[in-house]
Amino acid sequence: MGPGPWHLLRGIWRVVPGPFRPSVSTTLAENRNIYECVIHQPGMMTVEERIRELCTEKNAVILAHNYQRPEVQAVADHVGDSFVLARRVSSTDAEVIVFCGVDFMAESAKILNPERTVIHPVVESRCPMAAMAEVELVRALKSKHPDARVVSYINTSADVKAESDICCTSGNAVDVIRSIPEKKIIFVPDRNLGMYVQRSFPDKEIILWPGYCHVHQDDITVQLIKEAKEKHPHGVVMAHPECTPEVIDMADVVASTEGMIRHLRDVKEGTFIVGTEEGMIVRLQKENPNVTFIPVHGALCPNMKRITLESIARSLEEMGPTVQVDMEVARKAKVALDRMLEVGRSAADEKKD
Ligand code: SF4
Repeated sequence: MGPGPWHLLRGIWRVVPGPFRPSVSTTLAENRNIYECVIHQPGMMTVEERIRELCTEKNAVILAHNYQRPEVQAVADHVGDSFVLARRVSSTDAEVIVFCGVDFMAESAKILNPERTVIHPVVESRCPMAAMAEVELVRALKSKHPDARVVSYINTSADVKAESDICCTSGNAVDVIRSIPEKKIIFVPDRNLGMYVQRSFPDKEIILWPGYCHVHQDDITVQLIKEAKEKHPHGVVMAHPECTPEVIDMADVVASTEGMIRHLRDVKEGTFIVGTEEGMIVRLQKENPNVTFIPVHGALCPNMKRITLESIARSLEEMGPTVQVDMEVARKAKVALDRMLEVGRSAADEKKD
C-alpha cells in the first residue's frame, strides 16, 4: 500500500521545528489539542478514523484497560479490567489484537491466544509491580514452602505465571483462593491485595510477596481520602484492593475496577470518591452520567498513559511491535491463566443460580 494521508501527516509532524512542536509529555487535554490542531485538518481523516480503517483492513480488535487515556478508551472495541480483557482475548475471532495496557496484559493476551498476532503499541509501557516478582526468587520461595500453592496476580511476567498453580485478578482473587483446598498459599506480588484477601480466609496462611502498586499505595493515602470526605461528607468511598489496609478500612465499598462498574449499575445518583487510578473516572462517568465522581488527584499511572492514538495508528500500520513469549513458558503460564478463567466462569454461574 502506498503512502496515504496518515503518512503525510506524520511527515508534517516530523518536520515541524522542535521549538514550535508542542510537547507530547503534557496533560491529556493538551495532548488531545495536539491531535486536533496538527492532525485533524479539514477534509482529512482524523487519527481515530484512520485507526478504525486500519482495524477493518487488518481484521484487528483494540482492547483497552480502564486506566488508559480517554481518547484511547474511546477508540477501543472493548474496555475493561485485566479479567474482562483476558476473556475477550480468549473469545475473539479477530486475527490481530492491539492491546492498550501494560506489558503483562499484552503478554497474557498472547499466551491465551497464541495463534493471533498481538500488538503492544508501546513496549515501554510496563507495570513496575509486575517487575517486583523475579522468577528466581519465586522459585526459591516455592522450594522453601513445598506444601504451598502459588497464586500469582495477573500483574506478573509470563515466567512467574509459568511457576504458578493459578492466576487471579483483583476481581476474582477471593474466588480463586476459595477454590484452593490447601491451607498454605504463596501470593505474588501484591502484598496489599494479599492482605485484603487474607481477611476472608482467616484459616489459611497466605505468604505475602513484598510487592505493591505505587499508584494505589503511595498516591491514594488516608490523608487524601480524609480531605475528600471533608469536602464531600456524603460521598461513598470506593477503594481498589491494591490500596493499603488503612485506606481499605476507610472504604464503604472495596472493589476491582469492574466491581466498581457493577456496584454503580443500580445507582442513579449520588457522590462517589474513587480510590483507584484516575483513568477509571472516564468509564464510570460515561456509564453513570447523573453520578458525581471525585477522583483522588495525582493517582495516575504514567505507564498506562504511554499509549496514545498516534502510537496505536503507527503500530497498526507497521503491524508491530508484536508480543512474543517462549513456547514452553507460554504453555505452562496458560495452564495457570485457564484455571483462573475456569474459576471465574464457575463463580459467575453460581451468582446466576
Ligand atoms: S496502576 Fe499500578 S498495577 Fe496498574 S500498571 Fe500501573 S503500576 Fe502496575
